[in-house]
Amino acid sequence: MKAYRYVAQPQRTPFTGPKVNSSPDTAAGSRPVILDAQRLTKTYPSAAGPLTVVRDISFSIAAGSTCAIVGPSGSGKTTLLGLCAGLEHPTSGRVRLDGLDLGALDEDGRARVRNEKIGFVFQSFQLIPTLTALENVMAPMELRGQKNAAARARPLLDQVGLGARLSHFPLQLSGGEQQRVGLARAFINQPKILFADEPTGNLDAETGALVIESLFALNAAHATTLVIVTHDSELAGRAQRVIRLKAGAIVSDQEITQR
Ligand code: ADP
Ligand code: MG
Repeated sequence: MKAYRYVAQPQRTPFTGPKVNSSPDTAAGSRPVILDAQRLTKTYPSAAGPLTVVRDISFSIAAGSTCAIVGPSGSGKTTLLGLCAGLEHPTSGRVRLDGLDLGALDEDGRARVRNEKIGFVFQSFQLIPTLTALENVMAPMELRGQKNAAARARPLLDQVGLGARLSHFPLQLSGGEQQRVGLARAFINQPKILFADEPTGNLDAETGALVIESLFALNAAHATTLVIVTHDSELAGRAQRVIRLKAGAIVSDQEITQR
């Protein structure tokens, strides 16, 4: 059984422009903050006029915690993740990740932050078809020019139950197996924070459940922070906190106490 309780929104710090290190990276009386979004807005131009898809969103995520972002299709979940990962620029507002103001970095700087601090899991797996499972998992570490990627990739594939699939190509794996390769790949650079966008969205319930188990097992073993966009109530129910979006705005932010 789970009890739901409302958590008061933390007091908003006034937005002071692109100043770096203007607020302490500590959650109220507890763990340090790994991700801090302040007054994020994203507006796209469209034929019918400007379209605001993320509207004045502020929240912060404690290091080591798990958070699900839920909401109807089109409510801005993927856009919000893109903003938090520095893949998209906000029209206004600010994102700090591990103390770094993403807006104050250039494109190379943001790419470095993504490679060094962030892991991604995608709904459509996004494995490289010409690489084996092992090579897919090794790729982000090799991109950093680090040696011995295989020595770190093998135990990760073991942890997701694919120790006997190292030399399979993506097309020789089931959807659930491909996503578990995707999980192992997301953890190879020991990210501080992992963003997953509908990681079970392309899987049936049973296969999705296996992926969820692997995701939380890896998360526990590596003490990373997990931010998961999902429609899957089982997956959302595993997170310590659920942020609900509607039409680009936060409509609720609940901490879930397991008992
Ligand atoms: P969700 O992930 O919750 O389904 P998205 O963040 O993908 O929502 O999209 C939110 C809204 O923003 C949708 O209405 C979508 O059409 C619009 N949108 C997303 N990306 C773009 C873009 N590059 N240009 C214009 N509109 C976009
Ligand atoms: Mg989406």
